[in-house]
Amino acid sequence: MRTNLLGLDPGALAGFFAELGEKPFRAKQVLRWVHRCGESDFARMSDLAKGLRETLAQSAEVVPPRLVRESQAADGTQKWLLDVGAGNAVETVFIPEANRGTLCVSTQAGCTMACQFCSTGRQGFNRNLTTAEIIGQLWWVSRALQARDTKQSTPAHRAARALRAHEAHQSTPAPGAAQAAGVTRSEDRVISNVVLMGMGEPLLNFDNVVPALRLMLDDHAYNLSRRRVTLSTVGIVPMIDRLRDECPVALAVSLHAPNDELRSRLVPVNEKYPLAAVLAACRRYLERSPRDFITFEYVMLDGVNDSVERARQLISLVKGVHCKFNLIPFNAFPDSGFQRSSPERIAAFREVLMHAGLVTTTRKTRGDDIDGACGQLAGQVQDRTKRRSRRILETSA
Ligand code: SAH
Repeated sequence: MRTNLLGLDPGALAGFFAELGEKPFRAKQVLRWVHRCGESDFARMSDLAKGLRETLAQSAEVVPPRLVRESQAADGTQKWLLDVGAGNAVETVFIPEANRGTLCVSTQAGCTMACQFCSTGRQGFNRNLTTAEIIGQLWWVSRALQARDTKQSTPAHRAARALRAHEAHQSTPAPGAAQAAGVTRSEDRVISNVVLMGMGEPLLNFDNVVPALRLMLDDHAYNLSRRRVTLSTVGIVPMIDRLRDECPVALAVSLHAPNDELRSRLVPVNEKYPLAAVLAACRRYLERSPRDFITFEYVMLDGVNDSVERARQLISLVKGVHCKFNLIPFNAFPDSGFQRSSPERIAAFREVLMHAGLVTTTRKTRGDDIDGACGQLAGQVQDRTKRRSRRILETSA
């Protein structure tokens, strides 16, 4: 059996090369080939000895999930549907903006959390994605965007990029040299930010998510800063602590309600990890977070959680936790049973929070014409939990 190198984080790859009797810097070279250059053919890794290339071809492989479909929304948002086998497919979405490009990555085929307003939740759950399938999303999209960039640019652009790529590929650039060549500044990169906000609950797939995070952060792979990688969680308390201890990145928590009674209705896992426990975990996280605030996500559901009174309750709830709010206008899907709050209601809600000194942004709805907006990613899930059929029975009863 060949080892899929996409599934190995920097430490594991170093171990793999040690077992082959190779020097540690070989692992770094291969990281760069695989993740920076998007190369999957060992024969083309020109700075590796021929013998090593042959050994690798026999013992290893670079296999991303298979691309099923690519779609582009009118606003430039792009979505890739990737086949992860056995009838399951997951989605990854790229959101280009003037000063950054954000990739939204999925971590599970489906989700067990069953949040009432989320279409992934309605799809049921099949399995955790592997590290190779998680990082494979970044691998695919970087490659696709680089190729598109090359096609669209002029020969002068291409020459400059080739030079930068060459410089990036030199073993260890002198401090500042890479910067001068424009390769390590995150904001210059096509994908400058990653958010784990696609399908699934990342903290329930911790063992595969953390190695993928390590690849995102590694200098020789995607070289993203911890502040530009955001993990969004429904609030799995013990795992928030583990993330803090093992691989802290920016943290977003899906709050959606200011009290346990309402939150438990919208986000069933609140029964297990109620608000007080989630907020205490947020306080602990801030001790080691690369960002000095937690982002609280709050989906705006018309007439459900969007009154000015709810906003006031939120203010007292989050007292003492340094945070920012991100209001997400609800994105509809068939039979959701919810409506999006009006722009006026969202503005009034925001106003109350802002007045209390809480920085509050309203998420722009991007890519909704290709179902690429939050909570619309449905992918294709062979539900093993039978949630979908249970739901149909319940609603027809
Ligand atoms: N499991 C993680 C990631 C989920 S997706 C989490 O719960 O945070 C990222 C965000 O989109 C979450 O805040 C989620 O609650 C929100 N979301 C889900 N469905 C939505 C919908 N239909 N409209 C708007 N936001 C939605």
